Amino acid sequence: MLLARITQPKRRESPVGQLLSEVRLKLDDMATYLSKILKSYTDFEIAVREQIADICAPHCAGCQGVCCRPEFCRENIDSPFLNRISAKTQPDGAFSEEHGWLAPTGCVLSVGRPPVCYQFNCNKIIDGLPTAQHRYLVKVLSNLVPYIGKRSLGTRHIVEIMDPDQLKKVSFTRFGRRLNEAREALHVIQSYKGPYSSKVSSHAALSRVIPIPRPLAQ
Ligand code: SF4
Ligand code: SF4
Repeated sequence: MLLARITQPKRRESPVGQLLSEVRLKLDDMATYLSKILKSYTDFEIAVREQIADICAPHCAGCQGVCCRPEFCRENIDSPFLNRISAKTQPDGAFSEEHGWLAPTGCVLSVGRPPVCYQFNCNKIIDGLPTAQHRYLVKVLSNLVPYIGKRSLGTRHIVEIMDPDQLKKVSFTRFGRRLNEAREALHVIQSYKGPYSSKVSSHAALSRVIPIPRPLAQ
């Protein structure tokens, strides 16, 4: 009797059941893939933020002008993508209409900052750099986070997608590819050793993010 039960052929799943299992598997795979990509984005944002902080800290420490604006901070609240990123790490303070995410100690968001926060280069910092190559590298560095989400849906940047349902239409394969490209460019920047390095114009990883200015291209 037991043997009969063991050797009885398994009930075959109906074609619809099979299809549903496959879809479920694919959705699970997709969820894992998506959470891996978002984790990589978070790690990358931290790496860029630290690199930028190294360059800016000496200038920002004694600066009387405040370049942060609550209207920039608000993008983190309005964008479902940035919301999702910063929800993974508890900010060190609360958002206020008056000051946004800015506290007396600086920005309390460790991740999920609006891309514009990285993209902004103040003249004080750019003018303090020793060569045109350094200025170009800092411009590329500050465009790495914005680069990843560009043209995520049509011409829209990923942070400009305000409807969470539309966020599902984004090609995260493409997003992942751009993240890898940005990572490659960061690696070139971190390995730059001034005159002892190869010319910045020899790195396609950099010119993908920002075209090489003509004087540096020769
Ligand atoms: S980025 Fe420029 S303007 Fe802003 S705090 Fe730093 S030095 Fe001042
Ligand atoms: S760096 Fe932080 S405080 Fe400054 S504008 Fe961006 S989100 Fe706001």
